Amino acid sequence: KKITIAIDGYSSTGKSTVAKQLADHLGYVYVDSGAMYRAVTLYAMQHGIISKDKFDIPELKEALPSIQLKFKKEPHWEKARIYLNGNDVEDEIRNLEVSKFVSPIATIHEVRVKLVAQQQQFGLEKGVVMDGRDIGTVVFPEAELKIFMNASSVERAQRRLKELLDRGDSVTFNEILKNIEERDFIDTTREDSPLRKADDAIEIDNSEMNLEDQFHVALQLAKD
Ligand code: C5P
Repeated sequence: KKITIAIDGYSSTGKSTVAKQLADHLGYVYVDSGAMYRAVTLYAMQHGIISKDKFDIPELKEALPSIQLKFKKEPHWEKARIYLNGNDVEDEIRNLEVSKFVSPIATIHEVRVKLVAQQQQFGLEKGVVMDGRDIGTVVFPEAELKIFMNASSVERAQRRLKELLDRGDSVTFNEILKNIEERDFIDTTREDSPLRKADDAIEIDNSEMNLEDQFHVALQLAKD
């Protein structure tokens, strides 16, 4: 029987890695909910709605109906890529500029309402793994399996640094650590659906785990 798997946790704890591994192995669909918040943020940056010295919430609310998000999967891609109004923005949304604005954008109630509704649509079909911050608490409170991922912030920053350097971004460890800590703070203290472990979620701290160990722990949970 196919189930719904919700994976939540702090920034860069390896949620998407586990989610992808589980989805591949079980033949499930993987949905990266963070990519949706990132794509809305990119839209706001591209349209001059937010910048270093501007954060126009009413303008963003007005623009929300013009923001169309889609995931497209091709057989040779590891995961579905996200499209913003028809354009593939999967790579662009990962940059540090977007990471700096995304958590304030994710505090806006109307943004969450729009994205949660779309996420719940994806869940109508069983056999979904979704990762994010509020999947087990808000998006799928009835999910059969909820995992809450954690790791030390230094470990998380090191992993993210490697990812961004590997793709040629010019970033420093301190910049990334600061961004991770700021996002954790905003995510856990926001009024609307703050990040927290669902009561029935199982916590995995992977600070000391390799990818294989982590996969086996998660897979065992999915099989139980
Ligand atoms: O998962 P990722 O780190 O890409 O998410 C980017 C940001 O989007 C998070 O730091 C958080 O502020 C926001 N987010 C959220 N709710 C989700 C997923 C992401 O608020 N379900």
